[in-house]
Amino acid sequence: MEKKNEEELDPNFKFEVSAKAGGENIKLCFACGTCAAACPVAAVDKDFNPRRIIRQVLFGQRKNILSSAAIWSCQQCYACYATCPQNVKFRDVIRALRIMAVEEGYVKQELADEVLKLDNFAAETRNALAKVLWGDKGKYEAAKERIKAELKT
Ligand code: SF4
Ligand code: SF4
Repeated sequence: MEKKNEEELDPNFKFEVSAKAGGENIKLCFACGTCAAACPVAAVDKDFNPRRIIRQVLFGQRKNILSSAAIWSCQQCYACYATCPQNVKFRDVIRALRIMAVEEGYVKQELADEVLKLDNFAAETRNALAKVLWGDKGKYEAAKERIKAELKT
């Protein structure tokens, strides 16, 4: 007897995602979990896990993923992008999944526009924080020197 979950799987889903701009490298993922460990959203939201989302796409869980609130939780911060050993670019995979979710009618374009505004706000906030942290050159240089000294010992 066919399992219920198998009826929901779409073997073409991963190919469609990898054909989208941003989704090209998804099949390179070898499930190491580095992205999940680096992700600031995963650190505070147990329902958000980049590694798990990729597995679900590769398994063909089209409806589960495209109807999921999780794909809208990503803050587009690049931590997964920078740390992935396979150059999967999960941040961009998320963008591809969001476009598909809109195209397939799971969410309205207006929601996607609102989320984009939030992403831009988060990016501006991160930039402002970096300017504050790095703005005081004296403190930053002193911290770097302390780190270098620690590494030598
Ligand atoms: S870090 Fe890269 S290879 Fe590892 S699970 Fe995440 S996307 Fe896959
Ligand atoms: S871009 Fe998204 S998934 Fe990647 S680390 Fe940042 S919040 Fe997490």
